[in-house]
Amino acid sequence: MNVQQQIEQLRNELNTHNYNYYVLDNATISDFDFDIKLKELEKLEQENPIFFDSNSPTQRVGGTITKNFNTLVHKNRMYSLDNSYSKEDLQDWEKRIQKVLGTTAIEYTCELKFDGASINLTYQNGQFVKAVTRGDGFQGDEVTNNIKTIRSIPLTITKDFVSNFEMRGEIILPLDGFNKMNQERLAKGEEAYRNPRNTASGSLKLQDSTEVAKRPLDCLLYQVVTEERKYKTHFESLENARKVGFKVPKTITLAKSISEVFEFVNYWDAKRHDLPYETDGIVIKVNNLQQQEELGYTSKAPRWAIAYKFKAAQVATILKEITYQVGRTGAITPVANLDPVQLAGTTVKRASLHNADQIEKLDIRENDTVFVEKGGEIIPKIIGVDFSKRAENTKPTIYATHCPECNTALVRTAGDAKHYCKNEFGCAPQITGRIQHFISRKAMDIDGLGGETVDLLRKENLISNYADLYDLKVEQIVPLERMAEKSAQNMILGIEKSKEIPFEKVLFALGIRFVGETVAKKLAKHFKSIENLMAASFEELINVDEIGDRIAQSIIDFSADEGNVNLINRLKSVGVQLAVSAESLANQTNKLEGQIFVVSGVFHQMSRNELKKAIEDNGGKVSSSISKKTNFIVAGDNMGPSKLTKAQDLDVTIISEQDFVNKIS
Ligand code: AMP
Ligand code: ZN
Repeated sequence: MNVQQQIEQLRNELNTHNYNYYVLDNATISDFDFDIKLKELEKLEQENPIFFDSNSPTQRVGGTITKNFNTLVHKNRMYSLDNSYSKEDLQDWEKRIQKVLGTTAIEYTCELKFDGASINLTYQNGQFVKAVTRGDGFQGDEVTNNIKTIRSIPLTITKDFVSNFEMRGEIILPLDGFNKMNQERLAKGEEAYRNPRNTASGSLKLQDSTEVAKRPLDCLLYQVVTEERKYKTHFESLENARKVGFKVPKTITLAKSISEVFEFVNYWDAKRHDLPYETDGIVIKVNNLQQQEELGYTSKAPRWAIAYKFKAAQVATILKEITYQVGRTGAITPVANLDPVQLAGTTVKRASLHNADQIEKLDIRENDTVFVEKGGEIIPKIIGVDFSKRAENTKPTIYATHCPECNTALVRTAGDAKHYCKNEFGCAPQITGRIQHFISRKAMDIDGLGGETVDLLRKENLISNYADLYDLKVEQIVPLERMAEKSAQNMILGIEKSKEIPFEKVLFALGIRFVGETVAKKLAKHFKSIENLMAASFEELINVDEIGDRIAQSIIDFSADEGNVNLINRLKSVGVQLAVSAESLANQTNKLEGQIFVVSGVFHQMSRNELKKAIEDNGGKVSSSISKKTNFIVAGDNMGPSKLTKAQDLDVTIISEQDFVNKIS
């Protein structure tokens, strides 16, 4: 056997032992013998550097230091999940997807919802290449070196599987390991970690991978993402992933209906505390991958999956004081400041009280003993008062009458649950909040400028609105705290580059009340420029598809405000895109005006999303289910048979992908 073969053999052997121990939980070698073999391999690799392999088992011990984690864009977006809390919620979901798919024959998988930090592992030709955190779903931090230290993650796939794929999963700290870590910390006089989830996610961002290697992290996998159509169902792809070395928990179960899903829910609701790790619910997914594709995604989550949250943990504590927070729109949120209390693994000090009605309805008063609940949300809420513990002679809470930041009298319009501070241009958190929104990633996406810096710039009186950003000079920024020449230049460069951001995003960035991302897109498409939009009447506005009274009124109010007109003029004069560019106009027509399309099956010339965009760009509408109103079905390969029947029943015209392309070209 030559050296190369020797190295190969040792690597295979060590990989197999790792797999047996860390994935199958079945040791096939003593620690001592494992170390001897690992040392042997290390020696051979050192002597023969030409056989270096970044995925060798010797590379798992850590040793790299990462000062700054690279931001990488996900090839496929990492969506969030819609939540449900009751059997009715799940039944509603089932009805919705049955309608879209046009069939009741839908199979589901039931999985535990692992509570840790999501991770995206990329493999090419069976080799692990990188690991990226979920981040905001579009892009995350590259933590490859840290992830490599987790022994249950295979670095090379030798058995039959797809070759290029992403594995999605959750990095967790099993309870045993977490408790042991804490005992060691306490013994050293250090503070204990609060909960496994935050500790797991914090571990991924440690700079020294040797430290990560010491932590008993694990990785549970729940999704294979690939363009290779080797497997027909989600279940099958996961079963095969498990066979080739991934830790896919065997708790995954198939169900034929929501009633069967509920058996799984009930079982784990009772048994989840016996698991070696934490779960906060169940995830239900449509099993058939083709059906998944048919269902697609909303702007936040797949339509083919839903999380079911177990009933939240509750605890009682004393409400010390009610304070008020001012948001970027001037909306006031009352906050309960609590006697700190442990709840579901974290210390809770504050809870949201939502609005004045909520306080009145629950009759919440300072010094009351209140029940606090924490579901999946980060901010806990108060669900009631323990009246038996209320002191005598207390008086109902009187809601704030003036803004805590600028002392302007608060107003509340009929039909709105919230109070507002209308001092838009003079109230600090509103000024900062609006600028922070303006620069955020989905808006102007200004690199080199963060939320805290905005606050600093405002405090230094360098900016008091978003248009001021474009007047900033490097010399003004350099003298500020924690700023250097380089960072100041980057900031100015980032601001300069934002002048290329397309109109629809600029419109969203303006922060007009009720004009979110989707609405901004609709308005930009319809009105084409800020002038047209600001000149539109209430009637014209509500005639736009999906624009209601509330949004229309908000736009009218925005446009009538002289301050806003001023800001818009300044943005225009510095060159911010306040109209749809000629280039994107060129790709848009009215050819499909008034026509409603349903898209079904698999396409070749473009992806399903590109197809939908093409329909909308040409003035058509995309609907998710077939009805009498549907004009055309664009059918790709493998169109669902039930859809076909329904289309025939309703006499809807079915066209091919090519027919569609001809239609718009
Ligand atoms: P949420 O963060 O509440 O929107 O829930 C979505 C997250 O649940 C995903 O990003 C995953 O990290 C996590 N998750 C945990 N277990 C699963 C599972 N079995 N399937 C899908 N997602 C899961
Ligand atoms: Zn105010």
